[in-house]
Amino acid sequence: MPQSANRRQFLKSAAVASSALLIARFSHAQGPVVTADDPTAVALGYVADHTQVDTAKWAKKAGPDGAGQQCTSCAIYQVIDDEYGACPIFAGKRVHAAGWCNSWVQK
Ligand code: SF4
Repeated sequence: MPQSANRRQFLKSAAVASSALLIARFSHAQGPVVTADDPTAVALGYVADHTQVDTAKWAKKAGPDGAGQQCTSCAIYQVIDDEYGACPIFAGKRVHAAGWCNSWVQK
């Protein structure tokens, strides 16, 4: 294959990859917000406001570092904007920055 054809193929592949990345980021940014009745949210005790966690039910949040536990301090939280972020546990949806769930992991 001539060198110019290789270059064209590379540029075409790079353009496709960039587009896919943009679409993935955009879909996260525009995805629905996780609601309290989401089955995964129910299973993991997710709430939009971490101060509202039922600490009698969710012992992790009741622990000594519980007050600092919220999505923005979680290792897997990905910032979208000041109010929302993406979380791989809720793929394609947005979680509240002030949210919490029992899968929280210290950043
Ligand atoms: S895993 Fe972390 S970022 Fe995801 S919902 Fe739970 S606390 Fe928030």
